[in-house]
Amino acid sequence: MAKIFIVDDSRIIRKVLTSTLKEAGHEVIGEAANGEEALKAFETVTPDLVTLDITMPVMDGLETLEKIRSDYPDLKVVMISAAGQKNKVMQALKLGALDFIRKPVEKDEMLDVINKHVV
Ligand SMILES: [Mg+2]
Repeated sequence: MAKIFIVDDSRIIRKVLTSTLKEAGHEVIGEAANGEEALKAFETVTPDLVTLDITMPVMDGLETLEKIRSDYPDLKVVMISAAGQKNKVMQALKLGALDFIRKPVEKDEMLDVINKHVV
């Protein structure tokens, strides 16, 4: 079981991710609609892993990832990517994201990816 934090501007996606993770026994310790909100939250909560959407207003996934890498180097990050974002996914992996999950989110596939990176 891991403490997971969800960052996505879509409320529906956040809801789907939260219920899937909870069903699998993980704890969702918070969520944010963009990178700025997430970084603010990390001042008070310490997740084991963050799921990070790529396309978001205010602060997108790549910018957020860069900030996470410099401020919280041990925090595990898994990107959530939409179709046609291969270049951005590659960039994210180079910046230190561990993995990625494709939208539309497949429950089993998503849990396989998450469980690969948390104990
Ligand atoms: Mg988005």
